[in-house]
Amino acid sequence: MLKGKVAVVTGGTRGIGFATVKTYLDNGAKVVLFGSRQETVDKALKELMEENKDYPVKGMHPDLTNEEEIKKVFAEIKEEFGSLDILVNNAGISARDSLYDYKLSDFEKIMDLNVVAAFNCSKEAAKIMKEQGGGVILNTSSMVSIYGQSAGSGYPASKFAINGLTKSLARELGRDNIRVNAVAPGVTKTDMVAALPDEMIKPLIATIPLGRVGEPEDIANALLFLASDMASYVTGAILSVDGAAMS
Ligand code: NAD
Repeated sequence: MLKGKVAVVTGGTRGIGFATVKTYLDNGAKVVLFGSRQETVDKALKELMEENKDYPVKGMHPDLTNEEEIKKVFAEIKEEFGSLDILVNNAGISARDSLYDYKLSDFEKIMDLNVVAAFNCSKEAAKIMKEQGGGVILNTSSMVSIYGQSAGSGYPASKFAINGLTKSLARELGRDNIRVNAVAPGVTKTDMVAALPDEMIKPLIATIPLGRVGEPEDIANALLFLASDMASYVTGAILSVDGAAMS
């Protein structure tokens, strides 16, 4: 579905991002995965090589919040691969702090990684995509971007912002043949969720009509569809992948 395409996936070293990298590789894309540190990038690349030593994948760990560094890294990618067809803004952190104890610096940290990073990467990717005649930008939002959550308001605030960026860039960049969409996952079994004890998981699952939490591959498959030509008339969409969970 992505034969010959070049993709960048931020937060590609584990969880949803890692599953997306693997799904994209299995569907014929060349992938540059971004992580936060050299060690986690190396670990992800090693795991991929063990799966298939011929996967066309490389790893980098730029500071996503640093405009100049992102400019440089996207210029390097263009130089090396000649094009950039897909960007997945997936790196993200969450928080559960109560408003009364919420430090401004922590609120800003969430906004920086979850929103500013997506802005920086989208800007540099869009320049390349416009020049080559089109491309796809995808964002990982969250079900909390629809319902909010009862603590850690910075996280849903950042995901509401991501939805705003998605819908606005879809309108702004449509004329340049750049599609912009988001997936909004429900609770997904990444490391953090997998580590939760049964007594926390069971009541959570009881609120999900499909009777299970999501797997990273469920989200990766949605990101595959949206990146592919099968979604050629889909832009500005926030696709819920949450088993119809209600907050
Ligand atoms: P994860 O913690 O398993 O992975 C997060 C990724 O982000 C990692 O690859 C990490 O390297 C990267 N990252 C973290 N801090 C970084 C930094 N400072 N600089 C660069 N990269 C950094 O998380 P996940 O559950 O796979 O989440 C991926 C995305 O999905 C996030 O945007 C998250 O908000 C969203 N999401 C997750 C769930 C869930 O239940 N897991 C639900 C809804 C939305």
